[in-house]
Amino acid sequence: MTVRRASRIPGLQRDDLVRGEAFIDGAWVGAESRISVENPADGLVVGDVPDLGAGEATQAVTAAQDAMPGWQTLTGKARGQVLRRWSELMLAHAEDLARIMTAEQGKPLAEARGEVAYAAAFLEWFAEEARRVNGDILTPHASDKRLTVLRRPVGVVAAITPWNFPLAMITRKAGPALAVGCTMVVKPSELTPLSALALARLGQEAGVPPGVFNVITGQAAPIGDVLTGDPRIRKFTFTGSTAVGKMLAARCMATVKRVSLELGGNAPFIVFDDADIEAAVDGAIASKFRNTGQTCVCANRFFVQAGIHDRFAAALAARVGGLRLGPGLIGAFDQGPLIDARAVAKVRAHIADAVGAGARILTGGQSATVGPLFFQPTVLVDVRPDALVNREETFGPLAAITRFETEAEAIRMANDTSTGLAAYVFTQDMSRGVRLSETLECGMVGLNAGLISTEVAPFGGVKESGMGREGSRYGLEDYLDLKLVCANVA
Ligand code: NAP
Repeated sequence: MTVRRASRIPGLQRDDLVRGEAFIDGAWVGAESRISVENPADGLVVGDVPDLGAGEATQAVTAAQDAMPGWQTLTGKARGQVLRRWSELMLAHAEDLARIMTAEQGKPLAEARGEVAYAAAFLEWFAEEARRVNGDILTPHASDKRLTVLRRPVGVVAAITPWNFPLAMITRKAGPALAVGCTMVVKPSELTPLSALALARLGQEAGVPPGVFNVITGQAAPIGDVLTGDPRIRKFTFTGSTAVGKMLAARCMATVKRVSLELGGNAPFIVFDDADIEAAVDGAIASKFRNTGQTCVCANRFFVQAGIHDRFAAALAARVGGLRLGPGLIGAFDQGPLIDARAVAKVRAHIADAVGAGARILTGGQSATVGPLFFQPTVLVDVRPDALVNREETFGPLAAITRFETEAEAIRMANDTSTGLAAYVFTQDMSRGVRLSETLECGMVGLNAGLISTEVAPFGGVKESGMGREGSRYGLEDYLDLKLVCANVA
């Protein structure tokens, strides 16, 4: 078996963090058949990884299963110490991790650095939580009985993760899973496997025992079949599109796995007449244009009240028109490329649909000259409530504004969607803020805030945006089973 290493990413302190092998049972595993990893900013290959399949996925599950007894019998403190070291190593190598991420994903380097810190924070948070996985003693139902509720690790965990946050979407799952004593197999997106493998390398250096954390690269379908079908996997956790998540979750039911799903969103961003306009524009830029509009919590539908509409739209368009586009490894830019040509086509289709029905372009609207996957950040007004962009997640740099008159109308339009991940409300009327926070059908509300994600708070959605929560103390629950011990003391 040939093992090849890629090292074409400039400016790395440690070339060995760019791995050309998958990580199974504490060993680096290569293959003749390779998958190239391209930089979406220029189309150049920045590395390649093994194209593995069902056989290797099954080996990884076996490794995780075999590692489970040793890992779960360590004390929470000991597991926490390993997670903490892993987090510290991520921070010590933050610049390399950020460069690897920008090279394969395209996000500006400043954002990649931010994601490394965010991703490391999940390992740190759950390192601390590892010592607090406590059970309960219940008041018994009979005088000769004693009832104890244990919280036990669910077992081997399989995770499938997307390309838009190549590190954080893994550590948000690995942190709680490993903290409570589970072991895991991760399949990262084939578009961004290098970040996952660099993470595995640092995990190995931090002392994560062989088999506890495995990363398998290759074709999604055959690996996915194992991760959703193997009965030894007791928990399946997925972050990605709603369509794929539904399909994989259905397969998990044949072996009744616990399932967590972090799926797509279609977040409303509601600006009332009484909003602080500057704060609303700041929030819109942060929420809509971070990661070139490719975040699941991205504002997707802008609903702006009539009295502030024109001022807000003009101020947003002015800021958006000033965003700088370029390859993240070369300069300090605000926007990178989209992930692939399909993503560009979707933004284009949403704009064409809206404009065809009478919307106006205030800024942007076309491909940028920087490269084929760059698209001008765009602001549209006079977008109809039934436009494609208001019905589907765009996942690109398009802010489409629809005007409204009353609070009731805004709530009705905001809730008129099958998904419910995030929602944003800008108002200085706190009573209204409370009303909206309670009425909007979503898992997270940004009230005068455009950035809402943190390791200390629960992240997740309602409706078709998924089930379960990640991060925070609630994030542990998805990896724990309750077990009752009913003792007869007569
Ligand atoms: P995707 O196409 O669903 O892919 C997600 C993962 O599923 C990737 O690892 C992909 O592998 C894998 N996959 C695709 N088809 C599969 C199959 N038939 N069997 C097994 N695995 C399969 O989603 P994406 O385009 O990468 O990510 C964007 C979506 O993720 C958006 O909808 C976004 O809103 C959502 N997202 C949600 C959250 C959240 O927390 N709610 C966070 C981030 C992103 P390959 O890439 O190798 O094909």
